Amino acid sequence: MSFEVRYNKILEEIAACCLTAGRDPREVRLVAVSKTVGLPDINEAVLAGAHDFGENRPDALEEKSRALPNETWHFIGNIQSRRISDIVTHASLVHSLYQEHHLVKLSKAAFAMDKVQDVLLEVNISGEASKSGLAPKDVAGMLEQCLKSSNIRVCGLMTMAPRGSKDIARACFDDLARLREDLCKELNEDQSRSFKELSMGMSDDWQEAVYAGATIVRIGRALFDGNSAGV
Ligand SMILES: *Cc1c(COP(=O)(O)O)cnc(C)c1O
Repeated sequence: MSFEVRYNKILEEIAACCLTAGRDPREVRLVAVSKTVGLPDINEAVLAGAHDFGENRPDALEEKSRALPNETWHFIGNIQSRRISDIVTHASLVHSLYQEHHLVKLSKAAFAMDKVQDVLLEVNISGEASKSGLAPKDVAGMLEQCLKSSNIRVCGLMTMAPRGSKDIARACFDDLARLREDLCKELNEDQSRSFKELSMGMSDDWQEAVYAGATIVRIGRALFDGNSAGV
């Protein structure tokens, strides 16, 4: 199967899930996670109609977005302080902010570039020790810091569910959606209009995420690896 076939199949499946959930399929953006592939595969993806790509390493983000500057690049990996200006230069949306010292540096870098950097707050909703992100109880405080930061627009929340169980994944995604709703109650109208994104769902669990209200799904293997189980 080619990328194009897999891509169109997933888009159709997203639309079908949305129909079942009573959602508008235009509310869900498919980010193709290209971290394991090179430019030839990404070029093929662009020809197939994909224009949102996710990278988890600053050097790859820089290289690929320089080669394909007209595509939309998402940074989904660990933020490293010394690479923050590269991330701000190349990422349209940073999904993985959870530390205050990174917020300060992102804000400074964005100010220097005269850019407003869109960010999502990464939440460790499952509480697994191996996962990074804010504890749910700490999200409100971090959100408040973001709202005070110039040149930062906080657009919503991101999480990763534990692997293995679709039921547990669904519960995590429902928890993240509920957390967003609770946080919105403390925001003014403008702020809550911006704070609408739920970036959740990967190759093995994106259906559960769409049912739970995901506005962004981040899919790698099921798009780029034809032999993966998710296809
Ligand atoms: C790799 C990665 C994905 C994509 O995972 P797949 O299982 O390949 O779909 C999504 N989000 C993040 C943060 C990732 O690192």
